[in-house]
Amino acid sequence: MTVHDGNGWTRCGRGHRHWGRYGAAGLLVAAPDAAGQPTVLLQQRSWWGSYGGMWGPPGGARDSHESAPKAALREAAEECGLDPAAVAVHGVLRDDHGSWTYQTVLAIAPRTLTVFPVSEETKEVAWVRVDDVDSLRLHPGFAEQWKALREVLVPLTIIVDAANVMGSRPDGWWRDRAGAAQRLILELSGLASKGVTSLPETVGTPALERWFPQFVVVLEGAAKAADVGDPGLRLTVVAAAGSGDDEIATLAAEQPGQRLVVTADRELRARCEAVGASVIGPRWLLDLL
Ligand SMILES: [Zn+2]
Repeated sequence: MTVHDGNGWTRCGRGHRHWGRYGAAGLLVAAPDAAGQPTVLLQQRSWWGSYGGMWGPPGGARDSHESAPKAALREAAEECGLDPAAVAVHGVLRDDHGSWTYQTVLAIAPRTLTVFPVSEETKEVAWVRVDDVDSLRLHPGFAEQWKALREVLVPLTIIVDAANVMGSRPDGWWRDRAGAAQRLILELSGLASKGVTSLPETVGTPALERWFPQFVVVLEGAAKAADVGDPGLRLTVVAAAGSGDDEIATLAAEQPGQRLVVTADRELRARCEAVGASVIGPRWLLDLL
Protein backbone atom coordinates (compact mmCIF):
# COMPACT_ATOMS: atom_id res chain seq x y z
CA MET A 1 0.00 0.00 0.00
CA THR A 2 1.42 3.37 -1.05
CA VAL A 3 1.13 6.09 1.55
CA HIS A 4 -0.20 9.40 0.18
CA ASP A 5 -0.28 8.23 -3.44
CA GLY A 6 -3.18 10.67 -3.97
CA ASN A 7 -0.92 13.71 -3.80
CA GLY A 8 -0.67 15.38 -7.19
CA TRP A 9 -2.52 17.68 -9.56
CA THR A 10 -5.12 16.47 -12.02
CA ARG A 11 -7.70 17.95 -14.37
CA CYS A 12 -11.45 17.29 -14.03
CA GLY A 13 -14.11 16.82 -16.71
CA ARG A 14 -15.00 20.52 -16.39
CA GLY A 15 -11.46 21.56 -17.16
CA HIS A 16 -10.45 22.71 -13.67
CA ARG A 17 -7.14 21.87 -12.14
CA HIS A 18 -7.57 20.01 -8.81
CA TRP A 19 -5.32 18.65 -6.09
CA GLY A 20 -5.84 14.89 -5.58
CA ARG A 21 -5.16 12.25 -8.21
CA TYR A 22 -7.96 10.03 -6.86
CA GLY A 23 -10.26 12.87 -5.91
CA ALA A 24 -10.41 14.73 -2.63
CA ALA A 25 -12.42 14.61 0.58
CA GLY A 26 -13.24 17.08 3.33
CA LEU A 27 -14.75 16.80 6.79
CA LEU A 28 -17.68 19.02 7.78
CA VAL A 29 -18.18 18.58 11.51
CA ALA A 30 -21.13 20.24 13.23
CA ALA A 31 -21.29 20.81 16.99
CA PRO A 32 -23.21 23.07 19.37
CA ASP A 33 -21.14 25.88 20.94
CA ALA A 34 -21.27 26.84 24.64
CA ALA A 35 -24.48 28.81 23.99
CA GLY A 36 -26.06 25.81 22.27
CA GLN A 37 -25.86 27.43 18.82
CA PRO A 38 -24.96 25.16 15.87
CA THR A 39 -21.43 25.64 14.51
CA VAL A 40 -19.22 23.97 11.91
CA LEU A 41 -15.45 23.49 11.94
CA LEU A 42 -13.76 25.48 9.17
CA GLN A 43 -10.19 26.33 8.37
CA GLN A 44 -8.68 29.32 6.65
CA ARG A 45 -6.03 28.48 4.11
CA SER A 46 -2.63 30.15 4.29
CA TRP A 47 -2.27 33.19 2.09
CA TRP A 48 0.55 31.74 0.00
CA GLY A 49 -1.22 28.50 -1.01
CA SER A 50 -3.92 27.88 -3.60
CA TYR A 51 -7.21 29.59 -2.65
CA GLY A 52 -5.12 31.57 -0.14
CA GLY A 53 -7.09 33.15 2.70
CA MET A 54 -10.32 31.33 1.87
CA TRP A 55 -12.39 29.32 4.35
CA GLY A 56 -13.64 25.76 3.95
CA PRO A 57 -13.76 22.41 5.75
CA PRO A 58 -10.44 20.67 6.42
CA GLY A 59 -9.70 18.22 3.63
CA GLY A 60 -7.35 17.14 0.90
CA ALA A 61 -6.30 14.44 -1.52
CA ARG A 62 -7.79 10.98 -1.03
CA ASP A 63 -5.31 8.11 -1.38
CA SER A 64 -6.18 5.23 -3.72
CA HIS A 65 -6.75 2.80 -0.83
CA GLU A 66 -8.82 5.17 1.32
CA SER A 67 -12.58 5.55 1.77
CA ALA A 68 -13.87 9.14 1.79
CA PRO A 69 -14.56 9.08 5.56
CA LYS A 70 -11.08 7.74 6.27
CA ALA A 71 -9.41 10.38 4.08
CA ALA A 72 -11.52 13.21 5.52
CA LEU A 73 -10.84 12.20 9.14
CA ARG A 74 -7.12 11.87 8.43
CA GLU A 75 -6.97 15.30 6.80
CA ALA A 76 -8.88 16.91 9.70
CA ALA A 77 -6.40 15.40 12.15
CA GLU A 78 -3.40 16.49 10.05
CA GLU A 79 -4.65 20.04 9.50
CA CYS A 80 -6.68 20.91 12.63
CA GLY A 81 -5.56 18.40 15.26
CA LEU A 82 -9.10 17.00 15.40
CA ASP A 83 -9.45 13.69 17.23
CA PRO A 84 -11.18 11.35 14.72
CA ALA A 85 -12.55 9.23 17.57
CA ALA A 86 -14.47 12.22 18.96
CA VAL A 87 -16.76 12.64 15.95
CA ALA A 88 -19.49 10.46 14.40
CA VAL A 89 -19.75 10.32 10.61
CA HIS A 90 -23.36 10.34 9.33
CA GLY A 91 -23.22 11.01 5.61
CA VAL A 92 -21.24 11.73 2.44
CA LEU A 93 -22.14 14.37 -0.16
CA ARG A 94 -20.50 13.85 -3.54
CA ASP A 95 -19.64 16.72 -5.86
CA ASP A 96 -18.90 15.06 -9.18
CA HIS A 97 -16.86 17.06 -11.69
CA GLY A 98 -16.59 14.14 -14.17
CA SER A 99 -13.49 11.98 -13.63
CA TRP A 100 -12.81 13.94 -10.43
CA THR A 101 -14.92 14.12 -7.28
CA TYR A 102 -14.91 16.02 -4.01
CA GLN A 103 -16.65 14.13 -1.21
CA THR A 104 -17.79 16.08 1.84
CA VAL A 105 -18.02 13.79 4.83
CA LEU A 106 -20.64 14.94 7.33
CA ALA A 107 -20.05 14.37 11.02
CA ILE A 108 -21.23 15.57 14.40
CA ALA A 109 -19.48 16.13 17.71
CA PRO A 110 -21.16 16.48 21.10
CA ARG A 111 -19.48 19.91 21.60
CA THR A 112 -16.91 22.17 19.94
CA LEU A 113 -13.66 20.21 20.35
CA THR A 114 -10.19 21.67 20.84
CA VAL A 115 -8.60 22.38 17.44
CA PHE A 116 -5.55 24.31 16.25
CA PRO A 117 -3.73 24.85 12.94
CA VAL A 118 -1.26 22.00 12.53
CA SER A 119 -0.13 22.13 8.92
CA GLU A 120 1.59 24.96 7.10
CA GLU A 121 -1.32 25.25 4.68
CA THR A 122 -3.68 26.16 7.51
CA LYS A 123 -3.68 29.73 8.82
CA GLU A 124 -6.56 29.50 11.26
CA VAL A 125 -9.21 27.02 12.40
CA ALA A 126 -12.50 27.96 14.03
CA TRP A 127 -15.95 26.73 14.98
CA VAL A 128 -18.10 29.10 12.94
CA ARG A 129 -21.78 29.62 13.70
CA VAL A 130 -23.86 28.19 10.87
CA ASP A 131 -25.56 31.56 10.28
CA ASP A 132 -22.16 33.30 9.94
CA VAL A 133 -20.63 30.94 7.35
CA ASP A 134 -21.90 33.00 4.40
CA SER A 135 -20.16 36.11 5.72
CA LEU A 136 -16.72 34.50 5.30
CA ARG A 137 -14.71 34.42 2.08
CA LEU A 138 -15.43 30.81 1.15
CA HIS A 139 -13.54 28.39 -1.05
CA PRO A 140 -15.62 28.36 -4.29
CA GLY A 141 -16.20 24.58 -4.21
CA PHE A 142 -17.48 24.75 -0.62
CA ALA A 143 -19.54 27.88 -1.33
CA GLU A 144 -21.35 26.02 -4.11
CA GLN A 145 -22.24 23.08 -1.81
CA TRP A 146 -22.98 25.00 1.40
CA LYS A 147 -26.72 25.52 0.75
CA ALA A 148 -27.23 21.74 0.47
CA LEU A 149 -24.75 20.91 3.23
CA ARG A 150 -26.40 23.13 5.85
CA GLU A 151 -29.62 21.14 5.45
CA VAL A 152 -27.89 17.88 6.37
CA LEU A 153 -25.75 18.89 9.35
CA VAL A 154 -27.90 16.80 11.71
CA PRO A 155 -28.02 13.00 11.21
CA LEU A 156 -31.16 11.31 9.94
CA THR A 157 -32.92 9.07 12.48
CA ILE A 158 -34.73 5.95 11.28
CA ILE A 159 -37.26 4.75 13.86
CA VAL A 160 -38.20 1.10 13.33
CA ASP A 161 -41.55 -0.32 14.46
CA ALA A 162 -40.01 -3.75 15.08
CA ALA A 163 -43.33 -5.57 15.67
CA ASN A 164 -44.70 -4.26 12.39
CA VAL A 165 -41.52 -5.00 10.40
CA MET A 166 -41.24 -8.50 11.88
CA GLY A 167 -44.93 -9.11 11.19
CA SER A 168 -44.47 -8.37 7.49
CA ARG A 169 -41.87 -11.14 7.08
CA PRO A 170 -43.31 -14.64 7.49
CA ASP A 171 -40.19 -16.31 8.92
CA GLY A 172 -41.81 -17.98 11.92
CA TRP A 173 -41.46 -14.91 14.16
CA TRP A 174 -44.72 -15.83 15.97
CA ARG A 175 -43.04 -18.87 17.53
CA ASP A 176 -40.19 -16.82 19.07
CA ARG A 177 -40.70 -13.05 19.09
CA ALA A 178 -37.55 -12.33 21.11
CA GLY A 179 -35.44 -14.43 18.72
CA ALA A 180 -36.97 -12.72 15.67
CA ALA A 181 -36.30 -9.29 17.21
CA GLN A 182 -32.71 -10.32 17.86
CA ARG A 183 -32.26 -11.35 14.21
CA LEU A 184 -33.75 -8.07 12.99
CA ILE A 185 -31.47 -6.02 15.28
CA LEU A 186 -28.42 -7.91 14.04
CA GLU A 187 -29.38 -7.21 10.40
CA LEU A 188 -30.08 -3.55 11.19
CA SER A 189 -26.74 -3.05 12.93
CA GLY A 190 -25.08 -4.39 9.77
CA LEU A 191 -27.08 -1.90 7.71
CA ALA A 192 -26.22 0.90 10.15
CA SER A 193 -22.49 0.43 9.56
CA LYS A 194 -22.91 -0.03 5.80
CA GLY A 195 -25.22 2.98 5.41
CA VAL A 196 -27.95 3.58 2.84
CA THR A 197 -27.60 5.11 -0.62
CA SER A 198 -31.17 6.26 -1.22
CA LEU A 199 -34.11 7.42 0.87
CA PRO A 200 -37.86 7.47 0.21
CA GLU A 201 -38.92 10.61 -1.66
CA THR A 202 -41.01 11.74 1.31
CA VAL A 203 -37.79 12.58 3.18
CA GLY A 204 -37.10 16.08 1.91
CA THR A 205 -33.32 16.16 2.02
CA PRO A 206 -30.59 16.93 -0.50
CA ALA A 207 -29.37 13.70 -2.14
CA LEU A 208 -26.31 12.27 -0.46
CA GLU A 209 -24.03 9.58 -1.84
CA ARG A 210 -24.53 7.72 1.43
CA TRP A 211 -26.33 8.25 4.71
CA PHE A 212 -25.26 6.64 7.97
CA PRO A 213 -28.53 7.13 9.87
CA GLN A 214 -29.05 6.66 13.56
CA PHE A 215 -31.38 3.65 13.94
CA VAL A 216 -33.81 3.44 16.85
CA VAL A 217 -35.54 0.05 17.12
CA VAL A 218 -38.65 0.00 19.28
CA LEU A 219 -39.58 -3.31 20.87
CA GLU A 220 -42.81 -4.15 22.67
CA GLY A 221 -44.37 -7.15 24.42
CA ALA A 222 -42.53 -10.49 24.26
CA ALA A 223 -39.94 -9.09 21.81
CA LYS A 224 -38.50 -7.00 24.66
CA ALA A 225 -36.78 -10.16 25.96
CA ALA A 226 -34.44 -10.06 22.92
CA ASP A 227 -30.74 -10.27 23.74
CA VAL A 228 -29.49 -7.20 21.87
CA GLY A 229 -25.79 -7.67 22.61
CA ASP A 230 -23.65 -4.73 21.42
CA PRO A 231 -25.56 -3.23 18.48
CA GLY A 232 -22.93 -0.52 17.81
CA LEU A 233 -23.03 3.27 18.16
CA ARG A 234 -25.48 3.87 15.31
CA LEU A 235 -28.25 1.67 16.69
CA THR A 236 -30.29 2.09 19.86
CA VAL A 237 -32.87 -0.40 21.10
CA VAL A 238 -35.80 1.03 23.04
CA ALA A 239 -38.07 -1.27 25.06
CA ALA A 240 -41.46 0.45 25.10
CA ALA A 241 -42.71 0.96 28.66
CA GLY A 242 -46.30 0.78 27.48
CA SER A 243 -47.57 0.72 23.91
CA GLY A 244 -44.98 0.53 21.16
CA ASP A 245 -47.00 3.01 19.09
CA ASP A 246 -46.91 5.64 21.85
CA GLU A 247 -43.16 5.21 22.18
CA ILE A 248 -42.65 5.56 18.41
CA ALA A 249 -44.90 8.64 18.18
CA THR A 250 -42.96 10.27 21.04
CA LEU A 251 -39.61 9.51 19.41
CA ALA A 252 -40.90 10.83 16.07
CA ALA A 253 -41.81 14.10 17.81
CA GLU A 254 -38.69 14.51 19.92
CA GLN A 255 -35.69 13.30 17.90
CA PRO A 256 -33.67 16.16 16.36
CA GLY A 257 -33.23 16.47 12.59
CA GLN A 258 -35.11 14.46 9.99
CA ARG A 259 -37.00 11.38 11.20
CA LEU A 260 -38.09 8.46 9.07
CA VAL A 261 -40.49 5.98 10.72
CA VAL A 262 -40.75 2.46 9.31
CA THR A 263 -44.25 1.07 9.82
CA ALA A 264 -47.32 0.00 7.86
CA ASP A 265 -49.68 0.88 10.70
CA ARG A 266 -52.07 3.54 9.37
CA GLU A 267 -52.96 5.14 12.67
CA LEU A 268 -49.31 5.34 13.72
CA ARG A 269 -48.40 6.75 10.31
CA ALA A 270 -50.86 9.61 10.79
CA ARG A 271 -49.54 10.35 14.29
CA CYS A 272 -45.92 10.45 13.07
CA GLU A 273 -46.68 12.57 10.03
CA ALA A 274 -48.58 15.01 12.26
CA VAL A 275 -45.34 15.73 14.15
CA GLY A 276 -43.30 16.23 10.98
CA ALA A 277 -41.73 12.76 10.52
CA SER A 278 -41.70 10.88 7.21
CA VAL A 279 -43.12 7.35 7.10
CA ILE A 280 -42.33 4.36 4.88
CA GLY A 281 -43.61 0.76 4.87
CA PRO A 282 -41.51 -2.22 6.03
CA ARG A 283 -40.81 -3.40 2.46
CA TRP A 284 -38.40 -0.50 1.88
CA LEU A 285 -36.34 -1.49 4.90
CA LEU A 286 -36.48 -5.27 4.31
CA ASP A 287 -35.19 -4.79 0.76
CA LEU A 288 -32.07 -3.14 2.20
CA LEU A 289 -31.27 -6.02 4.59
ZN1 LIG B 1 -13.55 20.51 -11.33
